[in-house]
Amino acid sequence: MDGLRLDGRVAVVTGGAGAIGAAIAADLSALGAEVVVADVRDAEPVAAGLPGGRAAVVDLASPASVEEFAGAVGRVDIVVHNAGVSIVEPFTESDPAGWDLMWQVNLRGPMLLTKLLLPGMTARGWGRLVFVSSDGARAGSGGEGAYAATKAGLFGLAKTLAREAARAGVTSNVVCPGPTDTPMLQRVSAAEPGLVDKIARGIPLRRLGTPADVAGLVGYLCTDRAAYITGQTLSVSGGVTMH
Ligand code: NAD
Repeated sequence: MDGLRLDGRVAVVTGGAGAIGAAIAADLSALGAEVVVADVRDAEPVAAGLPGGRAAVVDLASPASVEEFAGAVGRVDIVVHNAGVSIVEPFTESDPAGWDLMWQVNLRGPMLLTKLLLPGMTARGWGRLVFVSSDGARAGSGGEGAYAATKAGLFGLAKTLAREAARAGVTSNVVCPGPTDTPMLQRVSAAEPGLVDKIARGIPLRRLGTPADVAGLVGYLCTDRAAYITGQTLSVSGGVTMH
């Protein structure tokens, strides 16, 4: 189908060794992109399953590591900022060291990486930036104050980049997963037995999201079919968030 392929494009997926990142990497690869699976942990098992897939190590909390990665990766047309960390604790008991980590990984890392890779996209006249935030940033999420705040920072960044880079053919959008069936969801829900089932029952579509649900939207936003969509924040949450 016209405009739905990514042949000849090079995509970086951060946090690509994780559940949602691996699904995004697989989707972009199936659409024809050459995918760089970037993560602080070993991404080789994910990259090895993709034709032309490459694994790369990057620690988004470290500006030096981000610079080294961006300097070595070569041409990049698509960046999916998917890596994220969440520390769950009541806000009044939360540790500023945890806030620092979430700011560094969830917001500063994407800022630094975009600063380094966007000039190449604008020079070539085509690019896609997709920021994976969270429904928790749109609606608030108990026990996840710093996570929600740092993920909400992506809204302002993505919209600003959408304005600054539009004339160069670069779009910039945010995808907000709702509760998605992943080890991360199990981890953040561990304190309350039965919480995951309770969450699923409260979702209008009556099930948790899957990594493939999220990947489907991210992949679409990277295609030429989505060339007129920019500056948007879109939830993939089974109807939990409807604004
Ligand atoms: P995950 O923990 O499986 O994946 C996150 C990945 O980010 C991991 O592979 C991890 O190694 C990587 N990462 C962490 N710190 C990093 C760093 N310093 N540098 C580079 N990579 C780093 O989690 P997931 O469920 O696949 O989540 C993917 C994204 O979706 C995250 O941004 C998360 O916040 C977001 N999200 C998830 C859910 C959910 O229910 N699972 C809901 C809303 C949003």
